[in-house]
Amino acid sequence: MTDFGDQATLTIDLDALVANWRRLGALAPAAECAAVVKADAYGLGAARVGPALFAAGCRRFFVAHSGEALALRAALPASTGAIIHVLHGPGPGGEDDLAAAGIVPVLSTPGQIAAWQAAARRAGRALPAALHIDTGMNRLGLTAAEADQVTADASRLDGIALEFVMTHLACADEPEHPLNTQQRDRFAAWRQRFPGLKGSLANSAGIFLGPDFHHDLLRPGIALYGSNPLGPAAGPRGDAAKMAQVVHLQGKILQVRSVDSGMTVGYGAGYIVEKPSRIATIAIGYADGFTRSLSSRGFAVIRGRQGHMRVPIAGRVSMDLITLDVSAVPDGDCRPGDAVDLIGGGVDIDAQAATAGTIAYELLTQLGRRYRRIYTGAAA
Ligand SMILES: *Cc1c(COP(=O)(O)O)cnc(C)c1O
Repeated sequence: MTDFGDQATLTIDLDALVANWRRLGALAPAAECAAVVKADAYGLGAARVGPALFAAGCRRFFVAHSGEALALRAALPASTGAIIHVLHGPGPGGEDDLAAAGIVPVLSTPGQIAAWQAAARRAGRALPAALHIDTGMNRLGLTAAEADQVTADASRLDGIALEFVMTHLACADEPEHPLNTQQRDRFAAWRQRFPGLKGSLANSAGIFLGPDFHHDLLRPGIALYGSNPLGPAAGPRGDAAKMAQVVHLQGKILQVRSVDSGMTVGYGAGYIVEKPSRIATIAIGYADGFTRSLSSRGFAVIRGRQGHMRVPIAGRVSMDLITLDVSAVPDGDCRPGDAVDLIGGGVDIDAQAATAGTIAYELLTQLGRRYRRIYTGAAA
């Protein structure tokens, strides 16, 4: 691949993505494995991620907004039978457009149900939808009282062809949290009210909670993209949920300089050099989504001839640049033009997110637009 002199490269491995999707599906062989590709596939590009998963056999996708659904529809091969669900449901007035595009919304309020029914009447046919019932998250979904009303009177769903009923776990990444089994049991009880209808409960972490969380349809997001859904805090138990690495963010070294003790590095002069040091300047900053909270806390990895060397970020992350203390790295392994890993490669995405005080979800969805993006793998 030609290098145009780009100083920051984001490589997205579509083979690893597909391997993760297959692996999650294999954990629940009786269930269908969908893919959550909201927020532009967690920042990685839904127009590339969607078709790659489709080619691997994925036939069901979840996005958050109607606009994302219509964009994904256009990116997937035409009339393929891929089903796209909008987690937020149709926006008021957007029902007819969604119905015409064959998008299947997730309905979460009595108002959305009524509006989708009205759209079905206008269309002169039953319209497919999914139903979201809240079981403890208190964010989206019918409340227990609303769900009671809807299930008590079958006419409330006239004209709607329900494909499945779903709920969402609040604490799936904390396997011992009591809310997990409460939500599981509440969901099982709700499903009794919809005999024969499919159910969907598990996000990425939920898949690892065991078979009674699987139901008929899995909704993984973050694990597809290479983050361990049980998080870095899960310890040895988390090893079971280690995913193939999808994202590799590399920045190039622009300069390496010697700095005497007593001098400072970067804005605010807050990083004081205690002994003569070498500082490497890298062409990535907060404008690229490399968050400022990594200032003097985050790290990079230099892949030297003696192996991987972890080097600390020295001083503040600025808009276009970061500075690394590379004093411990042999000269020959750290020259202008050399690449350093900031996410992926030698850097665990969840560890970098944790040092930033956030989670891989946020690190990925903030990734900037200025990187040279390279998609690799058979589907690229
Ligand atoms: C985002 C989302 C998912 C995917 O969650 P991950 O933790 O990324 O696997 C699944 N279901 C719903 C309702 C969501 O909002």
